[in-house]
Amino acid sequence: MSDAADRDQAPTAPESIGVLTSGGDAPGMNAAVRAVVRSALKAGITPYVIHEGYRGMVEGGAAIERATSVTVGGILQRGGTVIGTARSDDFRTREGRRRAARHLVERGIDALVVVGGDGSLTGANLFRQEWAGLLAELHDAGDLDADTVQRHPVLKLAGIVGSIDNDMFGTDMTVGADTALHRITEAIDAIHSTASSHQRSFVVEVMGRNCGYLALMAGLATGANWIFIPEHPPETDDWRELLQRTVTAGREVGRRQNLVIVAEGAQDRHGEPITADEVRRVLAEGLGEDTRTTILGHVQRGGAPSAFDRNLATQCGYHAVRELIAADAEDEPRLIGIRRNRIVASSLMEAVHRTQAVAERIAERDYDGAMALRGESFAESFETLKTLVRASPSRELNGTRSLRIALIHGGGPAPGMNTAVRAAVRTAMDGGHQVLAVHGGFPGLRDGRIEELDWMSVSGWVSHGGAEFGTSRRVPGPAELGDIAANLADHVVDAIVMIGGFDGYVAANVLHAARHEHPAFDIPIVCLPLTISNDLPGTELTVGADTALNSIVGNVDKIKQSAVASKRVFIVEVMGKDSGYLAMSTGLATGAERIYTPEEGIDLDGLRDDVRQLTDDIRGGQRLGLIIRGEHADRVFTTSFLWRLFSKEGGEDFDVRQAILGHLQQGGDPSPFDRIYATRFAARAIGYLVDQAERGGGASAMAGLVSGKVAFTPLARFEELLDPDGARRPASQVWSSLRPIADTMQ
Ligand code: ADP
Repeated sequence: MSDAADRDQAPTAPESIGVLTSGGDAPGMNAAVRAVVRSALKAGITPYVIHEGYRGMVEGGAAIERATSVTVGGILQRGGTVIGTARSDDFRTREGRRRAARHLVERGIDALVVVGGDGSLTGANLFRQEWAGLLAELHDAGDLDADTVQRHPVLKLAGIVGSIDNDMFGTDMTVGADTALHRITEAIDAIHSTASSHQRSFVVEVMGRNCGYLALMAGLATGANWIFIPEHPPETDDWRELLQRTVTAGREVGRRQNLVIVAEGAQDRHGEPITADEVRRVLAEGLGEDTRTTILGHVQRGGAPSAFDRNLATQCGYHAVRELIAADAEDEPRLIGIRRNRIVASSLMEAVHRTQAVAERIAERDYDGAMALRGESFAESFETLKTLVRASPSRELNGTRSLRIALIHGGGPAPGMNTAVRAAVRTAMDGGHQVLAVHGGFPGLRDGRIEELDWMSVSGWVSHGGAEFGTSRRVPGPAELGDIAANLADHVVDAIVMIGGFDGYVAANVLHAARHEHPAFDIPIVCLPLTISNDLPGTELTVGADTALNSIVGNVDKIKQSAVASKRVFIVEVMGKDSGYLAMSTGLATGAERIYTPEEGIDLDGLRDDVRQLTDDIRGGQRLGLIIRGEHADRVFTTSFLWRLFSKEGGEDFDVRQAILGHLQQGGDPSPFDRIYATRFAARAIGYLVDQAERGGGASAMAGLVSGKVAFTPLARFEELLDPDGARRPASQVWSSLRPIADTMQ
């Protein structure tokens, strides 16, 4: 595996690159095609889009279209694949592949980016292996001259996985899976609201023949009571009774809703399918109440791609072109994907083989083997889900070793706060600990607004936006510390979980720093990163940012659509304070012409160039211009300043409108991604605290994602990890690698 971003250009750049989408369609494929075309153009390579997958390649003619930047304009937000996909039996034959090869070399295409599933990538690899032979046959038949054959000795190949199932090795996420989770979560949230009004049970079938990813993550994101996945069949043959008992116990403790998620390929330990209908029958018989089945089917594939899928696909498309430029003739084909939050290139065929190995393990009923191949975080998520859905704590409180853990919010509200609270409460109580809620953030702690929670007090919170306990940006001053310490001592608090943003981290640090004067503060404090701004040290991403990003991107899509009558430039201001994450990610996901971030600032010369460029483009025929400005991008060049400047320069040629999106960015129900991370961080934070207590230690920490894994960084390092110039953001931010990609896409 290599870091895709590190490879430099080599002189063996291909003459022309073809890009196609193949197999099942997946949302986000358009972003990949757009990125390949624009990256190729920037590198001086001619791009071609190949319509209808391999079928178009075999047919040739108009199906292989020379692309310009305009060919792929306006497609980023569209679902499916605008260049079409198809299954092709002809391509499975050597004769078909020979015709395909001829159609490619005739146009000078000797490098391909294939966006598809494992079938499509296997086909592509075979085609690449046969390439020289196919060209020789075409030469022998008089269809190609010797010079053409000599100029294209190899076919270079890069693959990007487009699949809603998230079923491929070589990438932690396939393009389309996050959007599918959005569709599933929206549908289940809607079902939940009707289910809890009627005390009904629902069984929902989701896609995934060999992969339980969608079922498992949808289970975490919606608080399902039970999931059935192919890799991990129920442990016993008595699963029907067990399911009935669990659901009945849930009803007894006041749970109003039951939801069971079944993956398409779910089975029992003997390999017999477990269908949604059978689960429905088991529930109806066990509970004697109305039970309904919903098979989500193609809804899961549809709709506009999520912000994550757009940006993942864009990054993969960009890096695929770089790989093709850098590859030597004898280099193996590469798969471009995301591993541990970084875009990487790995061996395409190894990924295909390992993917097929999971299906084989399941077919052989080696479920432990299948689960092991899925990796650590899949297994960890499965265990977390099992804890969260229990009807009541599995262990009785045990006076001697149980901890009293206080949960508190700090900083601005962020979607996912309630989700994190629910996971923290349930994980702690499941381990025999007591949980206290502090209402109203640190001022609430000063005033003693503390309440003990029970298991059902957080029922249904997985999907609720906002912060039920309330949050505050206020950082306690020296005069308040005495009261805070007294309240912690009165309630015998052993540990604190602070779930919030920058000011919450600062407040936690104030307590931590004063632990020598106030012994009540000498307890472990863990901070969970919950803020839309993604501006915290100790983590590569914060919970809440994905929800905000999706809400911004959805709104910018609508703003763009409103420009039907006249030529228009929009200047959209987004939140994020001193971090440009939201601005940059929004810009990438909406195809903005310019993105202004606080990290880079705005200077007069740059602004003059930008005004001139955009004015020229629009006078030259472009209909729409989009500028994204982070709220703290510059003190002087404010959004209204930009608006006046562009309006003056645009004159009669175009309208300029500004939109300051404001607080809608902090609201809304959390996205699936934010629910999953809120849950994982909270569950791990409780584990960390229990660990500390068992070791007799009291180390405070910031929980977060570091190189794609949940990790704990000492709280004492908070300040040291911040920007040295005093901005409220970390000194190093992984997403800064997006800038060259955004520039290439313009
Ligand atoms: P997916 O890429 O989503 O797994 P399929 O398995 O249906 O979808 O593959 C899509 C297309 O890729 C097929 O219709 C066929 O043209 C081509 N293909 C798949 N497997 C092979 C193979 N072993 N040899 C040649 N072409 C293949």
